[in-house]
Amino acid sequence: MILTCIETRDKKIKKVSLEVLSEATRIAAELKTEAGAVLLGTGMEGLGAELSAYGASKVYLFDSPSLDRYSTQDHAAVLSGLVKKLSPAAVFFSATAMGKDLAPRLAARLGVGLASDCTRVSVRDGSLEFTRPIFAGKALLTFRLTSSPQVVSLRPNVFPVAAVAAAGEIMREAAEIPPAAARAEVTEVLKESGGEVDVSEADIVISGGRGMKGPENFELLREISALIPRSAVGASRSAVDSGWIGHQHQVGQTGKTVSPNLYLAFGISGAIQHLAGMSSSKVIVAVNKDPDAPIFKVADFGVVGDLFQVIPPLKEELKKLRG
Ligand SMILES: Cc1cc2nc3c(=O)[nH]c(=O)nc-3n(C[C@H](O)[C@H](O)[C@H](O)COP(=O)(O)OP(=O)(O)OC[C@H]3O[C@@H](n4cnc5c(N)ncnc54)[C@H](O)[C@@H]3O)c2cc1C
Repeated sequence: MILTCIETRDKKIKKVSLEVLSEATRIAAELKTEAGAVLLGTGMEGLGAELSAYGASKVYLFDSPSLDRYSTQDHAAVLSGLVKKLSPAAVFFSATAMGKDLAPRLAARLGVGLASDCTRVSVRDGSLEFTRPIFAGKALLTFRLTSSPQVVSLRPNVFPVAAVAAAGEIMREAAEIPPAAARAEVTEVLKESGGEVDVSEADIVISGGRGMKGPENFELLREISALIPRSAVGASRSAVDSGWIGHQHQVGQTGKTVSPNLYLAFGISGAIQHLAGMSSSKVIVAVNKDPDAPIFKVADFGVVGDLFQVIPPLKEELKKLRG
């Protein structure tokens, strides 16, 4: 079995988890085994059918109030118990904040290796081979793990979501949580006001860099975003480090990886660390006054010009389109 650890928010399955489950299902088919999924929390039973629609033939459900909020120790304890019981060939996570915390914990508890932040998984001679970017995306490393089960995290927004219906079975599991000497627990999940779409989940990302000149000008990008459904405002690290916009908007190596249908880059030079987070976008449009800016090497469409002259007519056209 290839087991996927599912993440939820507000009792809904996160898109990144469907990406991971889809890839796990594809790999399971190649290895002629089944794909399974594990859900931890309360009131999750209704989500089983959705997971089966993406290939999970078994959904392991741990329904316990103590798992409702993410706790490193409790989630790792429950998960390692299940993995020891099932002996899956691999356990897949998404390389989100939670996955980056939980996957190494599980690997350490099992005494096995970890393939983290992978952008490709393939089957060669019956075993798994992983690829991940290294040196800020300048090179790709392909490697194998020699230990079993293989604990793997996949980079968000890289793997496609593919519906492959499986006759799903819900397996109710009892959560046995041993007392821990110390516990790290999420006590509160804060939401940004305005119900903004998360930059990693948006269909269209409108990003600004140091060329935006100041925090007040990010309002221009928010105005454009308000005219485009399922869009979000992104930023380069320079803009974030200058305090112009919050870190949750940062795209790149030390920010979020995005892969939207359209990525608009205003006043972003296109440093390798920024490209590491957005170069897989379907269509990239760059606006930069420097014709030699590296962003133009990855852009499908480019405007060499002052962004402050480009944004107002763009906004007017969008307004007309919205009627
Ligand atoms: C370990 C490490 C991790 C990093 N992680 C990240 C990361 O996750 N994300 C990230 O973005 N960066 C990251 N960086 C930083 C990265 O190297 C760059 O410094 C950063 O991306 C540059 O941001 P920028 O393009 O906004 O600024 P700049 O490089 O200063 O570019 C500003 C651009 O705006 C253009 N411009 C100026 N005025 C206008 C105007 N009026 N109209 C149009 N264009 C204009 C300029 O021509 C220029 O090209 C990282 C660096 C390191 C060392």
